[in-house]
Amino acid sequence: MSDGAMSFETPEQVKLINSQIDRFIEQEVKPLEEEYPQFLGEDRERNMVDGDHRLVDEYLELRDKIHQKSVDAGFYTMAMPERVGGGGLNALEDTMVMEHLHNRDPDGYHTLIFDRLSVDHSIIPLYDDDYQREKYFEPVMNAEKHMTFGLTEPDHGSDPTWMDSTAEKGGDEWVINGTKAFISNSVEADFIMVHARTSGEDGDADGISTFLVDRDNPGWEIGKIQRSMGTKQGAQAINHFNDCRVPESQMVGEEGQGFRTAMTWVGAGRLHIPAKAVGISQWMFDRSVEYAENRKTFGEPIGSRQSIQELLVEMRVAIEQVRWLYRYTAWKMDRGEEYRWLQSAAKLQGANLWCDVADNAIQIHGGAGYMKSLPFEGLYRDGRVTRIYEGSDEIQKRTIARRFLDL
Ligand SMILES: Cc1cc2nc3c(=O)[nH]c(=O)nc-3n(C[C@H](O)[C@H](O)[C@H](O)COP(=O)(O)OP(=O)(O)OC[C@H]3O[C@@H](n4cnc5c(N)ncnc54)[C@H](O)[C@@H]3O)c2cc1C
Repeated sequence: MSDGAMSFETPEQVKLINSQIDRFIEQEVKPLEEEYPQFLGEDRERNMVDGDHRLVDEYLELRDKIHQKSVDAGFYTMAMPERVGGGGLNALEDTMVMEHLHNRDPDGYHTLIFDRLSVDHSIIPLYDDDYQREKYFEPVMNAEKHMTFGLTEPDHGSDPTWMDSTAEKGGDEWVINGTKAFISNSVEADFIMVHARTSGEDGDADGISTFLVDRDNPGWEIGKIQRSMGTKQGAQAINHFNDCRVPESQMVGEEGQGFRTAMTWVGAGRLHIPAKAVGISQWMFDRSVEYAENRKTFGEPIGSRQSIQELLVEMRVAIEQVRWLYRYTAWKMDRGEEYRWLQSAAKLQGANLWCDVADNAIQIHGGAGYMKSLPFEGLYRDGRVTRIYEGSDEIQKRTIARRFLDL
């Protein structure tokens, strides 16, 4: 709305993009689902990785094909600002599109339309440096390169400002030493944005710097591939930096200011999680309603039982609450108003929504819900991590409590 008042309507721009995305999935993604059926259905997790738990080449080939099509269609970078060549969607538009994208059967390749681990506002400082723009930023925007992001360490996750990794100046080079843990997509990424302390003390946000390290740098090694509860196998790994030498030109932004870059990356996820959670929860709810209407026990549909209705009602009410919480937060963000505690609240509630709705959907589907032939058990496993990463439940509660407790 032109006067900036809050509208409960879906913006015209979002309606248009959503219909374009639906068409794109139908015309461009579905044919690839037929061409690569091995990464769908009950065997997908087994087929995605080789004996060393690495993603197989065919899966990466499929990913690259979808990314390229998405670049050509203008979706891939649509949430990046126009000034850096993106589509310029604001937070509300972007999150509403995310909700729409996830409101469908997860057994498909539609989520590969985006790579938000690479194309994220945290790479904007790369645009402002001629060398980094050409070598990293542009190839990421064109999906020719993929990035990974190294912040967490084996001994420091919720408290990254206590990180042990260091970078020391030696002549005109920086020498990075340290270990990062749970680093997503690091096995196949072309480069990493890694954070290390260059000055200051444990707990200082200042003094942490960000560096770009190329795949072929002998000082960066992938260690153990960490096998997870989720369905995206081969995704996380330990990363070692042993006397990893990079020239000064590989430092992102100003020395000692890298923690801000890190928080941009983490912050983006904090609104995407509730938006995706609402989309996928709505899909699980709709399937559960259909099942409750059709599945009969003792000669009656299970949906006629009050205890099943209660499960459905809990799901529906919670979806609506999180939908409006994340949208209100995004709206405040776009207006430049204080939104941080609301963002924590939306992330906290969104993560729990996903977990609770998946749990109820399994319960309503009974034994069938527990089997791999339906997507609910996979969604239950995938949802669980949203309560841990991008700031755990407890860290979000800490942020919210600090908003009103003057201790
Ligand atoms: C699938 C997955 C993908 C990931 N991808 C990446 C990635 O690409 N890059 C990256 O850098 N990191 C990544 N991470 C790491 C993630 O950000 C951390 O796991 C997360 O920040 C939590 O840190 P931790 O695991 O060390 O837990 P800890 O910080 O050790 O926390 C353990 C428990 O203590 C609680 N806790 C901690 N501090 C407090 C406190 N002050 N008050 C109350 N409770 C507290 C936590 O909530 C948690 O329950 C990923 C993690 C997972 C699981």
